[in-house]
Amino acid sequence: MKYKVCEVCVMDTSDPDIKFYGKRGCSNCSNAKKTYLRVKQESRDLKGLVQKIRRDGANKKYDCIIGVSGGVDSSYVAYVVKKLHLRPLAVHLDNGWDSKQAVLNVKKVLDRLGIDLYNYVIDWEEFRDIQMSFLKASTPDSEIPTDHAIVAILYKMALKHHVKYIIDGWNIETECILPQKWSYGHADWKYIKSIQKQFGTKKIKTLPHYNRFQKMFYERAAHIERVHILNYVPYNKARVKEKLKTEFGWTDYGAKHDESFYTKFYQNYILPDKFGVDKRKMHLSSMIVSGQISREEALAELAKPLHTQEEAVADHRYFYEKMGVSENEYKKIMKAEKRSYWDYPNYENDFIHKVFGL
Ligand SMILES: [Zn+2]
Repeated sequence: MKYKVCEVCVMDTSDPDIKFYGKRGCSNCSNAKKTYLRVKQESRDLKGLVQKIRRDGANKKYDCIIGVSGGVDSSYVAYVVKKLHLRPLAVHLDNGWDSKQAVLNVKKVLDRLGIDLYNYVIDWEEFRDIQMSFLKASTPDSEIPTDHAIVAILYKMALKHHVKYIIDGWNIETECILPQKWSYGHADWKYIKSIQKQFGTKKIKTLPHYNRFQKMFYERAAHIERVHILNYVPYNKARVKEKLKTEFGWTDYGAKHDESFYTKFYQNYILPDKFGVDKRKMHLSSMIVSGQISREEALAELAKPLHTQEEAVADHRYFYEKMGVSENEYKKIMKAEKRSYWDYPNYENDFIHKVFGL
């Protein structure tokens, strides 16, 4: 496909599914605009939401579970829920890649707000093996084991403490664009299991997870609801960062996603070098849709390099050492033919097989 960029947002042909509508934008931003307006409309009754959470959590130690990473979204969630006089338990998943700054941010924010923390430390050798399996599988989904495990541990803690609400940091202001081809299958345990079976050297024994039936149990039998509270409150990222800095001594990672070295490495090297994907485009485009920045500001941000040459050398060296992978093996993985979620056993392929009798 010939290179082209949208006239309204900054999404381009690196999303193979994109369609362009001239001055009206592209399939990403025009759909996102509709979703944005719908979600904002649906998220107007903050008072009702808070009353419901308080009522269902009365007489319990906690009335909600929040996930914390040290990043801006989840730190702001901690601030918001306390401001609303909710009684949260914070949950953090330590997958072995936390930066010192992230750990400090979590501590500063939670200590100041007086929020209890449950910290789940993952089995590093097992997790490292699963992350390697995803790299070997050649899909752009190597953050999925972390994302899946976080949700699993949030569900488990909600069940354990009889809490009905998991409050997360997902928000329509900065995340209304998410191209399917850039990452897919977060809730798909069958996908994770099958990748590990094919490429791993260990059996998965401890990774927190949930299958389709467990998800159904959490949602329909235990009535655990996921709440995107940032959609109910004003959320201007730049202003929120200033607030967190002045009130908690919170540290900004800039655009580099430095709360986790793996996330940084994935977004700065694996995705752009192998898949031609620069995730900044979807975040910046989302912020154009929600009116937080102009297209010119987004283009100026995109013009900045993802990393310097020196950073690339140091980051790769650290990655090889921590992952226990040789430079040669990594280069072979980066050159291997690109594949996707659809090339492996997963729940959605199951569904297609059932429907078409294949
Ligand atoms: Zn667009």
